[in-house]
Amino acid sequence: MHRPLPAGTQAPGRAVDLVIRNAKLLLESGLVRGGVAVSGDRICLIATDEHLPSANTVIDAHQKVLMPGLIDGHAHLHDPARLDHEDFTTGSRAAAAGGVTTVVDMPLTSPVLSPQAVEEKAKQGESMSIVDFGLYAGMMSADSVAVIPSLIEKGVAAFKAFTCAPYFANDGVITRLLSEVSEHGGHLTVHCENQGVLDEFKKDLEGEWDAPVSHSLARPNLAEQLAVHQTVGIAQQTGGHLHIAHVSTREAVKEIERGRAAGITITSEVCPHHLVFYRDEMNRLGPKSKMNPPLRSKEDRAALWAALLRGSIEMAVSDHAPSPAEEKDSGKEDIREAWSGVDGIQMILRILLSEGVNKGRLSFSRLLDVTCRNPARIFGLYPKKGVLQVGSDADMVIVDPTREETMKTDMMFSKCGWTLYEGMAMKGAPVMTFVRGVQVFNEDRTTIKPGYGRFQKMGDAGKVVED
Ligand SMILES: [Zn+2]
Repeated sequence: MHRPLPAGTQAPGRAVDLVIRNAKLLLESGLVRGGVAVSGDRICLIATDEHLPSANTVIDAHQKVLMPGLIDGHAHLHDPARLDHEDFTTGSRAAAAGGVTTVVDMPLTSPVLSPQAVEEKAKQGESMSIVDFGLYAGMMSADSVAVIPSLIEKGVAAFKAFTCAPYFANDGVITRLLSEVSEHGGHLTVHCENQGVLDEFKKDLEGEWDAPVSHSLARPNLAEQLAVHQTVGIAQQTGGHLHIAHVSTREAVKEIERGRAAGITITSEVCPHHLVFYRDEMNRLGPKSKMNPPLRSKEDRAALWAALLRGSIEMAVSDHAPSPAEEKDSGKEDIREAWSGVDGIQMILRILLSEGVNKGRLSFSRLLDVTCRNPARIFGLYPKKGVLQVGSDADMVIVDPTREETMKTDMMFSKCGWTLYEGMAMKGAPVMTFVRGVQVFNEDRTTIKPGYGRFQKMGDAGKVVED
């Protein structure tokens, strides 16, 4: 794979550090043939092969697709809260193996809620991660409204709140949080499920908790629809950037579209599991298929693909939140006992290639939008990240859109030791991943020691630049 350019093709002048040639480059203007030159940690030239300089390392992409590394805008690396689930090293290895070069870590417990906590977590991540990362602050409450400006100062400009247990924030608190974000910048991400609906619907499932599908039936579409509607209504009053986490229903898509049409700044995201699986498969898949919001109907799944394609949903994110197998198996008799959350960080790109691009549901340029450009803009990292452009960080992934593979647990880098995607036949996979010009993943192994990843401060987060 690594070989010098043939004599006669080397441009005069100093050799650069890295050249990737003979690629199909996924640029903002579309797919074009050529290559990329890297000096230090940045892209210094994008050109047709004959105009690329000589380099210390030359990689022939064999006409595979070279695209920016993905930014996973929602992943729970569980570090240090649940080290038996995942940590910065294992989670970032799974990221690299999925073509993800920047992870935005989302806390579930031990949230970063002070400048000092940001510094400590950033330090911890930099000592363990192999890819770059940003940090979410959460779980936001009435007590944490006041810390928003000081966290933005520290480069943490994404805040998470819930409309449901176990981190319930009432409408008044959501209003205060959005007002603060409106004034100081950044964005508020809301997990939208109406607690009242959840409380009532679970009563109908008595005696049926041995069936995994009961988890989904107890959390109906209505719960998401109402919570999105309510939160969008709040944003209409406060202004500020509202982001809806893991949209899973067709009703939520409509509420978001209605709000946006009314001029409210709303962005949203979708997860690979909601794009692949559906409710009626839950009894077959077992407790591993439990997550919140839950798997929905086939009609919802189709609506999510359509929304992703037409731009109503801006980002694909993993919501990676695996657990040890025992915490899933504990739900075999009673699904309420199982951990909520699945693996996904290694699967986003594969799912979008296999089920999206290769099945005609997504174009390459839309793939670039939802995995790179939009998350970079939403988290204030654009154009440092999320684009192949001169001056940008050389975060890149070589993708083979035709590679066929069957997913198996031993291919996965997560600490959890299982995958919801076990046995799935996939077409399209990342084959090499680079972070700031350094290769971190090659074919089936990571190629760098923990401690390479760097904390990324969110700059002008919340400003979604329109073309
Ligand atoms: Zn999550």
